[in-house]
Amino acid sequence: RKAVNVIGAGLAGSEAAWQIAKRGLPVTLFEMRPEKQTAAHHTGQFAELVCTNSLRSNSITNAVGILKEEMRHLDSLVMKAADTASVPAGGALAVDRHDFSGMITRTLKEMPNVTVVGEEAESIPEGITIIATGPLTSDKLSASIQRLTGEKYFYFYDAAAPIILGETIDRETVYLKSRYDKGDAAYLNCPMNKEEFDAFFHALVTAETAPLKEFEKENYFSGCMPIEVMARRGAKTLLFGPLKPVGLEDPRTGKRPFAVVQLRQDNTTGSLFNMVGFQTHLKWGEQKRVFQMILGLEHAEIVRYGVMHRNTFLNAPLLLEPTYQTKARDDLFFAGQMTGVEGYVESAASGLIAGINAAKLYLDKNPVTFPEETVIGSMAHYITTTSSKNFQPMNANFGLLPPLTERVKDKKLRAEHYASRALELLRDVIIKL
Ligand code: FAD
Repeated sequence: RKAVNVIGAGLAGSEAAWQIAKRGLPVTLFEMRPEKQTAAHHTGQFAELVCTNSLRSNSITNAVGILKEEMRHLDSLVMKAADTASVPAGGALAVDRHDFSGMITRTLKEMPNVTVVGEEAESIPEGITIIATGPLTSDKLSASIQRLTGEKYFYFYDAAAPIILGETIDRETVYLKSRYDKGDAAYLNCPMNKEEFDAFFHALVTAETAPLKEFEKENYFSGCMPIEVMARRGAKTLLFGPLKPVGLEDPRTGKRPFAVVQLRQDNTTGSLFNMVGFQTHLKWGEQKRVFQMILGLEHAEIVRYGVMHRNTFLNAPLLLEPTYQTKARDDLFFAGQMTGVEGYVESAASGLIAGINAAKLYLDKNPVTFPEETVIGSMAHYITTTSSKNFQPMNANFGLLPPLTERVKDKKLRAEHYASRALELLRDVIIKL
């Protein structure tokens, strides 16, 4: 039988190749670097970290910390390399990037059943295949993917507003209402008086933006302008735009606030909310500082910061299964950032599932869907079941997990409950793998 094709030896592709190869199955791994570089990579190493050397929290009181622990239980190569190459970073897991990528590259290249092809894949091969070519997928392959998915369901630019953990919104301050009471009351509204708006406006126009990478200096989509750019055109642009208060009278007073920030429910359970019209290019620290000035959001936890950058990703809710198989072709998988998961660890985690399932398929066994209560499973569930309208990539976070059966008030204790529930259920999956 033909080897499993893995295209792209980034975070997701390297993990996927490892999961297949360590099961003794043959893998052909395509990687175009160093022959052909992307706009963000600099080396020919596998799993190169294109930006920070931090893989974020290593504590199980954080969803991405639990995800790491789950991946360790699943014998992840990315986690093994990260733990081996770790450098002191407080509660975070940061790595020496050269040691990290070096170990992953060596491990895969030394495996006798892994054949590395140092070429750009230009089309989608026949046979069991995982495409993990990342946010900077080469143009030719992008065109092939677009032919498969249809133009409308494959994106090249990510313009996302921040997403907030619902339980951290002050419900005493905000109110539920849709504009002119049309349809169900689907929005939470954060009211502002003139003074509050002026202070917020001043902070917004003076906040620091993230530097644009050379390849990101594209025009902003019309109708998708960053909130800070809109603000710099004048207060009225906001007051007649995303912060427009008309039809949003506060039902408690009957009065119309001076300005209103609307929050839209982002997942079916209502644990996540996005800030309507707040796509932004502000630095993450600045987003926290400025957006916490909004009434009702003083203690808001941003689980996914707003971004505006080059990103190649699919409309996963329409195209993928939670096994990371495509609906169109069950031997074709996608993994990594292009599936709509966001971040180094999340990308590797999706590669891990795709790898396990490609191996299952090779052995004529049924692919596995990971339980929604695990962080690794919650992401697969989210990207395949959330609304396909305005689909935007997502980081691992507690808002994706089904609520606990009992109410635990203490935040740290609650996280520990999430962690033990996840790891217990994961053990059952691992026994059957
Ligand atoms: P990648 O790691 O990019 O791997 C894809 C691989 O496929 C690459 O090696 C590429 O060379 C190869 N490839 C592409 N096309 C082809 C082809 N046709 N044939 C063969 N090979 C091909 N996440 C974080 O958690 N922290 C950050 O600080 C961070 N910073 C980022 C900065 C930038 C500029 C970008 C673009 C993304 C950043 N991300 C960050 C998001 C994301 O976590 C990373 O992009 C991550 O590397 C995604 O993993 P991946 O496996 O999906 O893709």
